[in-house]
Amino acid sequence: MENLKNRTNKDLIKPLRVVILGAGESGTGAAVLAKSKGFDVFLSDKGKIKDKYKSLLVQYGITWEEENHTEEMILTADEVIKSPGIPDKTDLIVKLKRKGTPVVSEIEFAGRYSNAKMICITGSNGKTTTTLLTYHILKKAGLNVGLAGNVGKSFALQIAENKHDYYVLELSSFQLDDMYNFKADVAVLLNITPDHLDRYNYKLQNYVDSKFRVIQNQTAGDAFIYCLDDEVTAKEVEKKNIQARQYSFSIKQKVEQGAYLNENQLIVNINQTNQTLMSIQELALQGKHNIYNSMAAAIVAKLTDVRKEIIRDSLSDFQNVEHRLEFVAKVNGVEFINDSKATNVNSTWYALESMQHPVVLILGGVDKGNDYSMLMDMVKEKVKAIVCLGKDNKKIQRAFKGAVENIVEVTSAQEAVAQSCKLAKKGDTVLLSPACASFDLFENFEDRGHQFKAAVRSL
Ligand code: ADP
Repeated sequence: MENLKNRTNKDLIKPLRVVILGAGESGTGAAVLAKSKGFDVFLSDKGKIKDKYKSLLVQYGITWEEENHTEEMILTADEVIKSPGIPDKTDLIVKLKRKGTPVVSEIEFAGRYSNAKMICITGSNGKTTTTLLTYHILKKAGLNVGLAGNVGKSFALQIAENKHDYYVLELSSFQLDDMYNFKADVAVLLNITPDHLDRYNYKLQNYVDSKFRVIQNQTAGDAFIYCLDDEVTAKEVEKKNIQARQYSFSIKQKVEQGAYLNENQLIVNINQTNQTLMSIQELALQGKHNIYNSMAAAIVAKLTDVRKEIIRDSLSDFQNVEHRLEFVAKVNGVEFINDSKATNVNSTWYALESMQHPVVLILGGVDKGNDYSMLMDMVKEKVKAIVCLGKDNKKIQRAFKGAVENIVEVTSAQEAVAQSCKLAKKGDTVLLSPACASFDLFENFEDRGHQFKAAVRSL
């Protein structure tokens, strides 16, 4: 047995007892990997554990508990792997940190057991889309690539069960917060707009610092890709002494290393190659925000030596992701779009930006400190009515009173669709893009999107 007493936190790469907090996709995956690496593993979840995860735990002989955190079992850990959903302020985490127990994310833990090239994608909005888009291109290019992070099967489970040469990882700021030694070979930062500030002491800089952890440990051989049009990101890049090779993308100006637009052509310029990839009309994903996402994915693909033709084909045949500006149906000449994943003001702004017809906007839910004034110009220009779908809609009422003809309140997806039908005329669009989290009335954003689609389909 190793003597761990004299080792620093940083050195604790082989703790004897690994405790996992949270038995979701990442937690159970981490438990399986830790078990397969010979650690003494215990998993604890304060809520109920889903059956599919329980059977995985049983299959691998992992000890676990649910609906409780038994401190005696947890505080004895040499290292804790924490679900990104558990805030640092939680009593148990405070106690662990006070004891000096390292608390890491599943990605940090699993990354120790892989030599694959890591492509890590973060940002306030567009992570899932860009991650899936990048994965789609690399897969089509025939690379042995895994998809993980916030999407699909957990990273840890894939490390335990498969062997990939590349991983495309979607990383949230919460995951990045618990990452220390992990290094991205290619890091992508899409944008930074205020989100989750409740977890960052309401200081934007704390959130910015968290996002920039995606480049920590990078050296000159690595790549950092970011959006030059995003002011917060661009300013921070200037302040920092970044070691990695930098690539940027912009729809406003030419860039020396990265991607930009010339007229409507998407150009990728890497080492002075200035290659015209395709026109933006050919992109499978439309809307300004998706030009950015496509550019980011294209740069990654170029850096991974994927041929231009494959990048172009992949960017034009990509299937849109559910709940992201997803077309649902056209009923009596009214188009219904499900953008339930828009859980902050910025993503709703981009959704409205891409709308071509008058909009009945379904807005509302759990507000994470939204500043609705950011939407005002867009709402005045494009929105004819707002349907508030939330328990407490006072803030939305106050923000948009007088700016649109009609504001109504509803408490279910069905009612929202029924009211929208009354307010919309032939040629209009009904857009569910709530700018808020969903858990006041729904289980999660997927549930909200599904209920909305079901209501539309039963019209
Ligand atoms: P994330 O995984 O970061 O939450 P998604 O790809 O799931 O991002 O998209 C979330 C929401 O943000 C959707 O409503 C989508 O239309 C919008 N969106 C996607 N990409 C961007 C972008 N680059 N900038 C702003 N909004 C975006």
